[in-house]
Amino acid sequence: MPRFVTHLESALDGTRLSADEPQTLHKDRPLWVRYDLDAVRQAVTRDDLAERPPMMWRYRELLPPRDERSIVSLGEQMTPILRCRRLAHRFGLENLFIKDESRLPTGSFKSRGLAMAITMAGEFGIRRVAIPTAGNAGGAMAAYAARAGLEAFVFMPADTPIINRYECRLAGARTFLVNGLITDCGRIVREGKEPLGWFDMSTLKEPYRIEGKKTMGLELAEQFGWKLPDVIVYPTGGGTGLIGMWKAFEELAELGWLEDTRRPRMVAVQSEGCAPIVRAFEAGERFAQPFADAQTIASGIRVPAAVGDFMILDAVRASHGRAVAVEEARLRYWMALGTASEGIAICPETAACLGAVEKLAAEGWIGREERVVVFNTGAAQKYPEAMAIDLPQIDKNAPLDWELIARG
Ligand SMILES: *Cc1c(COP(=O)(O)O)cnc(C)c1O
Repeated sequence: MPRFVTHLESALDGTRLSADEPQTLHKDRPLWVRYDLDAVRQAVTRDDLAERPPMMWRYRELLPPRDERSIVSLGEQMTPILRCRRLAHRFGLENLFIKDESRLPTGSFKSRGLAMAITMAGEFGIRRVAIPTAGNAGGAMAAYAARAGLEAFVFMPADTPIINRYECRLAGARTFLVNGLITDCGRIVREGKEPLGWFDMSTLKEPYRIEGKKTMGLELAEQFGWKLPDVIVYPTGGGTGLIGMWKAFEELAELGWLEDTRRPRMVAVQSEGCAPIVRAFEAGERFAQPFADAQTIASGIRVPAAVGDFMILDAVRASHGRAVAVEEARLRYWMALGTASEGIAICPETAACLGAVEKLAAEGWIGREERVVVFNTGAAQKYPEAMAIDLPQIDKNAPLDWELIARG
């Protein structure tokens, strides 16, 4: 398995760092993984890919592992892109698609990033890892760490959805509830590096999670016949997914694999309850101020301060996209609308994206015929608190009331 990584590069000032040892941040800001794309172009063609198993690892020339045998996998299948006719009609659109990432191991797209990060930790001989999490990243890290036989520590806000709390522990991670936000959990992981000697797997502090998330963009391009959609609508917390996809499109363009040069307009979606990126976008700033009193049931996007804020904002602006905040109080409504319209179990984060599509289509910013892709980043089933509803009861001893049953 030849490897095409040349070095790591500071996203802030372009400083080169070695890819042969574990790295985290440079001047407190994230790193890009860089490849010799000319060599990749010589080594593989678009058509070669079609022969390979339908897994995220099929893009191996554009991924960092050195040795195929070190890959830690739970079966990361390519996820389907589902055309959504009913939802499209509802929003006055014709070409609306959902890429359903909820099918991935541990029920969210976090498995793409953590499969990669744990694989790379293994290659570097790291034995102990720790992560601050809004929920799904912890669940994914715990699972891949278990798979690889690494020791895992997970720190999450005390009000994280209950499934996330339990799944980490079930997978054997030492799991802790913190009476604060993900930023408070991040501080604990930072301070624990010395006394406990773990590697910090935080979003974007670990450079390889982006490369895992990048496979969403590679897959999307391949599945759309190397013609990218017009608009991508993505729920944005730490931003790895949005940043990773944008990086994928740049690399594909440089390889000459894309059918045309137009890139999708990237829409970063947040809830009004936690919208630091939207505020910075609207203020024309490159760095975001921390968002006070962050609150949203869409726990995956409850990230009041993102270390890669400027990378998100750069990508959104370069793409002529938007950062949009939607009403927190309507998230449950969009979750139910999406799931009942299409049968796809929509997570609260993606519910926010449906709200953004509704808004942008109504404004005319998304044209009727444009191809729009929304990412369903997690499974609704991981959010029992957000799904909870009182169901009508039937007394088995009473006469059945068919009119009542017909109404549901
Ligand atoms: C983590 C998460 C997000 C946010 O993803 P980023 O790439 O960190 O911005 C969105 N949705 C779900 C379900 C998540 O778990």
